[in-house]
Amino acid sequence: MSKLPEIFGSLVFNDTVMKQRLPKETYRSLKKAVQENKPLDVNVANVIASAMKDWAVEKGATHFTPWFQPMTGITAEKHDSFISPTPDGGVIMEFSGKELVKGEPDASSFPSGGIRATFEARGYTAWDPTSYAFIKDNSLCIPTAFCSYTGEALDKKTPLLRSMEALDAQALRILRLFGNVDAKKVLTTVGPEQEYFLVDKALHDKRKDLIFCGRTLFGAKPPKGQELEDHYFGAIKPRIAAYMKDLNEQLWKLGVLAKTEHNEVAPAQHELAPIFSTTNVATDHNQLTMEVMKKTALKHGLVCLLHEKPFAGINGSGKHNNWSLSTDTGVNLLEPGESPSENAQFLLFLVAVVKAIDEYQELLRVSVATAGNDHRLGANEAPPAIVSVFLGEELTGILDAIESGKPYGKKAPQEMTIGVNVLPRFPKDTTDRNRTSPFAFTGNKFEFRMVGSSLSIAGPNFVLNTIVADSLKEFADKLEKAKNFTAELNALIKDTIKAHKRIIFNGNNYEESWVKEAEKRGLANLKTVPESVESFIAPKSVGVLTKFGVLTKKEIHSRYEITLENYCKVLNIEVLTMLEMIHKEILPGVFKYVTSVAATALSVKQLGGAPTGAEEALVSKLSRLAEDLAGKAAALEGELLKVKAIESAKDQATAFAATVVPLMAETRAVADEIEPLVAEEFLPFPTYGDLLFRV
Ligand code: ADP
Ligand code: MG
Repeated sequence: MSKLPEIFGSLVFNDTVMKQRLPKETYRSLKKAVQENKPLDVNVANVIASAMKDWAVEKGATHFTPWFQPMTGITAEKHDSFISPTPDGGVIMEFSGKELVKGEPDASSFPSGGIRATFEARGYTAWDPTSYAFIKDNSLCIPTAFCSYTGEALDKKTPLLRSMEALDAQALRILRLFGNVDAKKVLTTVGPEQEYFLVDKALHDKRKDLIFCGRTLFGAKPPKGQELEDHYFGAIKPRIAAYMKDLNEQLWKLGVLAKTEHNEVAPAQHELAPIFSTTNVATDHNQLTMEVMKKTALKHGLVCLLHEKPFAGINGSGKHNNWSLSTDTGVNLLEPGESPSENAQFLLFLVAVVKAIDEYQELLRVSVATAGNDHRLGANEAPPAIVSVFLGEELTGILDAIESGKPYGKKAPQEMTIGVNVLPRFPKDTTDRNRTSPFAFTGNKFEFRMVGSSLSIAGPNFVLNTIVADSLKEFADKLEKAKNFTAELNALIKDTIKAHKRIIFNGNNYEESWVKEAEKRGLANLKTVPESVESFIAPKSVGVLTKFGVLTKKEIHSRYEITLENYCKVLNIEVLTMLEMIHKEILPGVFKYVTSVAATALSVKQLGGAPTGAEEALVSKLSRLAEDLAGKAAALEGELLKVKAIESAKDQATAFAATVVPLMAETRAVADEIEPLVAEEFLPFPTYGDLLFRV
């Protein structure tokens, strides 16, 4: 491997390359357009496109493609080659500004939730110049937004970009009130920690559930699970280490700041964390990371599982979305400062977040609602489905003191007067961290832990940005009118704490007592997709999303439909896979094994011996279980047919959750009782033990 600084970003048309290859004037126009969120002049676009093409061709690229993020949750591409015929029968490599700025892929097969009429299948992609173009598989990839022909967003990037603008505008108003005239822009920053499993490809390919669903639908508990916790941060096996090295190198070339990697709690589970960047770039990079993780695994004879819950009884995978606000001058607005005035500003931003999370807890919950994530949230696994905020004892103590007007601190108690006192330093080390909280303040950022491992982080982040923009707007409206700024600021912070402190919880979020306590506080506990999805179209959510132009009412409804459709589709596939495995693999395996055991008993008899009774006991036990399993499968199949006949997507999803999901669990329980009783060679698929420990 060549040196890291040499390979880092070598496949990216980044700022350094632009400075080298674009005329000064063009470079400046581009920067200005990005800074001011303005469209690009076509002549400027032509110059950029041509420079991009030359650069890409030098690097071996032959094609270009818009790279976009439709509602499927993965990225999409439509490749065109650069070649353009010349009159003399040859070709030249061409790429115009028009092609760079706008593409027109056929959009008919992407989910639109009813937005796109069938007669208007076209969609268009629009270049997002805030995220660098890059080369992947010999194609120049242009990060783009994806819209219907009538302008509605059909993707995950568009609302994210809109939410960043909303937050920028409102946060700047606040900064100006504190006398900050330098900052030209406020950006949200995100560092998403990505969890994943690696399993052996040959073993993986023997399991239909992994192939079709990305998770196991059956599997008895292995003799060893994660109880010894010997995997967590343990030494990385050579095969995995080789994978991680390869993965890192590829990500670095793509400009992804892959930073830390370690083994997770569950066997075969790992994590990759990047250095944070702006929300938009972090989202693009996370999509790329997931894609490269999967591809690289195949090269190493492995399969990367990004599902939220690949194995029952073993920790699931999430994505910790570390989120903060930063000025373009590099000041983290959630970092407590050194001076009283800085700290007043910090407290205002802090309570803005607390208020936003409390007011829009349901919207935040629904932003991470998927069939896969239902296995984590609310299923006794990190974190619960109840949204709450962890601030730590110290910061909570300060807020309490501010609210009550009582002195703060034991040793030398002082009044916490905002804008007068300096805040004490908060510990940032892990000892003060609460690992069970869904939304935790970790010293200078918040960590949102409810995001599922396979989910695009665009959804939760556009919600976060929008709801915080809403708090800030309310604050700015008040403060801009204030006659006495300091007095108004104090009152505002105090009132906000009082009104929203119910969302703050520093205890253990896994305990049953918290569920009761949260209910008393009036916090929502939305356990499944169908339970939570309604809050997406509730007037409050529609109100805040439309107020800032992040989504229109039509776009919200389309996303609501897509969420429900997707949930029903996933469950349908899972049930069909279950049935197929039962009928084609498990039951035939059991019958064959029973026959062979019975034959053993018979031949013992024929030889004049006496069967021990073990054979008979096993045969009758397995026959009984097989009957039970066949019965459960029949019931499941019947229920599936009934549920699928329900017309309304909402009712169908609700029925899936209410009847099909519990039946799946019952069916699985019987199969898992059978598995350990059957000799290995009679079941065609590998066990949990094989999958988790034979990498
Ligand atoms: P953990 O103990 O949770 O692993 P780390 O300190 O390793 O915490 O950071 C986790 C992630 O948080 C990293 O991706 C890091 O880049 C990101 N992060 C750090 N500071 C910020 C910030 N200001 N905004 C967004 N993300 C941040
Ligand atoms: Mg973390």
